[in-house]
Amino acid sequence: MLLISGTKLLAVLASLSGISWATSSGTARRSFQPALHPPGSFSRSLRSDASNNHIDKRWLAVETSTDANADHHLWPDKTVTYAFNSVADMKAIFKNLIKAIELWNAAGLSREEYKWKAILKPACLADRTNCLLITRQDGVLKSTIAKAAAQPKHDLDGPEMFLDAGENPPTALSFELSYAHEIGHAWGLGHEHQNPAFWSREFDPNQKRKGTVFTPNNFKCEQHWGFNRALRLANDKSRADYAETDRLLLCRVAGVASKLKFGVFEYLPTTSGYYSESSALSQGPKDVDWDSIMIYPTRMKPGSPTFFFKPDGSDIPISSGPTLQDVKGIQRMYNAKPKKANFGALLNSGANKAQAQFKKMFCGCCSSE
Ligand SMILES: [Zn+2]
Repeated sequence: MLLISGTKLLAVLASLSGISWATSSGTARRSFQPALHPPGSFSRSLRSDASNNHIDKRWLAVETSTDANADHHLWPDKTVTYAFNSVADMKAIFKNLIKAIELWNAAGLSREEYKWKAILKPACLADRTNCLLITRQDGVLKSTIAKAAAQPKHDLDGPEMFLDAGENPPTALSFELSYAHEIGHAWGLGHEHQNPAFWSREFDPNQKRKGTVFTPNNFKCEQHWGFNRALRLANDKSRADYAETDRLLLCRVAGVASKLKFGVFEYLPTTSGYYSESSALSQGPKDVDWDSIMIYPTRMKPGSPTFFFKPDGSDIPISSGPTLQDVKGIQRMYNAKPKKANFGALLNSGANKAQAQFKKMFCGCCSSE
């Protein structure tokens, strides 16, 4: 990994600090195209692990779509057009964002081909659905998937990313690794562990899945810190969206967990709208990219109760960066022949659809219970 030179960063920041971000039409706009890529060379791979052995295995990615009404689109010309919400946000985020992008480059994602193009905030707001707006929000790490469509009903007007830039990272991952995870979402990757093919029949309303990776034995939902609160809500018949089955499904179906604002919805198998290379309903532990930057580690937050493990009971490690498979996922996604959209009814659609649009590294709704 190559870090940006401090001098270069300071020069870039200094050159930007005088820019007005006002949105009034009379504001003079300066050209603003800072390269997010530091100069110099970098190593091709972060690690010399066994990733190559699984190069053709799967990943979880948003489906390529040509449907104008689809919830997600890929970034045209493999270019994420973005703007910071403020100069202050940029100053707080910029350095680690560069490092995070570099992690992807070092893992094999070509920086010449997969680009980040900065524009001014006013230009971003003027073409909101085609621009990723990046905002500092401490305690939060979340991003919409790919070029997410606007959902005015849910106050989502285009692709967004929220990044913590406080004193300490909110999870066990460093800032740059956390940002690298969100960058994976911004390109279109979902969570590795949410691949439905990995989950056992207990987590399928139709009971057709035969995955052997995640079962009630290593996804111990009841040990999640939000379980008691979610269970109380599930039993609360005064809720407008109460359903008799909530109590039974809160640990099984992402849509129900999401409805109850129960953080396990970011663990449970996702439903339609995503695809992986393999469509098999049965996948085993060897099919999982345990080193992926897109998988949740067992110890997401130091000191928190643990509830999510490998099938043998051991910890899912903290990723040290994007893997070759993560890179391959993005490359396949963006080089695939466009398909007709196949966004069926999402189990997590409805009341919390906007919430489901975001993928989080860190659950902002985790209570201390
Ligand atoms: Zn995530």
